[in-house]
Amino acid sequence: MANRSMKSNALHCIYLFFILLFILVPMASPLEAKVTKSEFGSTPDGTKVEIYTLEEGALKARIMTYGARLVSLEVPDRSGKPGDIVLGYESLAGYTADPKSYFGSIVGRYGNRIAHASFTLDGKVYHLPVNDGTNTLHGGIKGFDKLVWHGREIPNGVELTLVSKDGDQGFPGTLTARVRYTLAAHALKIEYFATTDKDTVLNLTNHSYFNLAGEGHGDILNHQVMIPADRYTPVDASLIPTGELAPVAGTPLDFHNPTAIGARIDDNFEQMRLAGGYDHNYVLNGKMGVLQEAARVVEPTTGRILTVDTTQPGLQFYSGNFLDGTLTGKHGHVYAKHAGFCLETQHFPDSPNHPKFPTSELKPGETYHSITTFGFSTAP
Ligand code: BGC
Repeated sequence: MANRSMKSNALHCIYLFFILLFILVPMASPLEAKVTKSEFGSTPDGTKVEIYTLEEGALKARIMTYGARLVSLEVPDRSGKPGDIVLGYESLAGYTADPKSYFGSIVGRYGNRIAHASFTLDGKVYHLPVNDGTNTLHGGIKGFDKLVWHGREIPNGVELTLVSKDGDQGFPGTLTARVRYTLAAHALKIEYFATTDKDTVLNLTNHSYFNLAGEGHGDILNHQVMIPADRYTPVDASLIPTGELAPVAGTPLDFHNPTAIGARIDDNFEQMRLAGGYDHNYVLNGKMGVLQEAARVVEPTTGRILTVDTTQPGLQFYSGNFLDGTLTGKHGHVYAKHAGFCLETQHFPDSPNHPKFPTSELKPGETYHSITTFGFSTAP
C-alpha cells in the first residue's frame, strides 16, 4: 500500500515538473515577433510594393516598402480589445494618390522645412524643389515618402534600404538610408542609419498620425499630452524657425503637466495662430544621442498610452491642423481637422540654415544613427 502511494507521489512530481517546464520555458525565453511578407500592389509606374506584417503579443504592425510607411498599428485598449491607431489607407492606391499627408512615411532626405528651398554647405549654395509656399517641406516634391524602398526580414522586424543618388531633389551626395522597424517588449522601435559619399544634410523621421481612440474615431483634442521639454523653436508665418530657443513656460506650448491637446489650442497666442494649432519643434532637454523620454500621451476613453523615447534632439508636435476632411482613409473614414497627431522625432527644422542648431550634416566615413521607440501600455 505504502509502496503504491510512493509511486503515485513520484508520478505526480514528474507531471508537475513537466507542467512547470511547459509554463516557465516560454516565459523565460524572449518573445520573438512573427514576421510575414506579402505583395501590396504596384505604384502607377509599375514598381512592385511589398508589405511586412510584424506580430508580437497583442501588437501588430504593417509596414510597406512604398515610403517605408507604417500602414497600420494594432494596439489593445484597457479591456484588451485591439484597435488600429494610425491614419492611412487600406490600399496602395490611396497612398500614391495623396501627395500631402505623408501618412506613416519615413520623410527625408530632410524632414520638415528648409527656408526658401536652399541652403549653403561647404560654401556652395544648393537649390531644392519648392513645395510649401517658398520653402521645401519633407525632402521636396518626390521625397523618400514617395520612393519604393528595398525590404528584407530581420529578427523581430523589417529593414528598409533606400539609395538616394547625388543630386536627388537637389541634395548633394549619394545617401544610403536604412530604417529598421522592430516589435519587442510592447514597443515599436524605429532605428535609422545613413551613410554618404559627399558632405550632405539629412533629417529622417517617421510621419505617423496617431489617434489612440482608433483611426477614424473622432478628433484627438481630448488626448492628454505630456512633453518634458523646457524650450521650443518659435516660427514665422511660413513655419520657419526664427532661430530663437524660447521657453514654453507660461504659453500654451507648455506640456510639462499632462494637458488635453484641445485645452489651449485656440488660445490667443501668436504661435498658435500662425500654425493653426500645434505645429512646433520642441527642444528636448536631454543629451542628443542618448535615449530620453520625449512625450507621453494618454487617451482617456480607451486607456491607451503612447510613450515616445528618442535619441534625437527635437520633437515636432503636429496636431493635424491641415487635415480638412478632403481625405477619406481606411474603412471610408473621413479625416477632418485634428483627426490625428504626429510626434516626429527629428533635428530642428531648417537646421542647414541655422549654424547654432544641432548639426544635421553628414560626412563621408560617418554613419548617421538614431533610435525612436513608440511604447504602448494602458491606464486603468
Ligand atoms: C508639418 C506640418 C505639415 C505636415 C504635412 C508636418 O510634419 O509640421 O506643417 O503640414 O507635416 O503633413
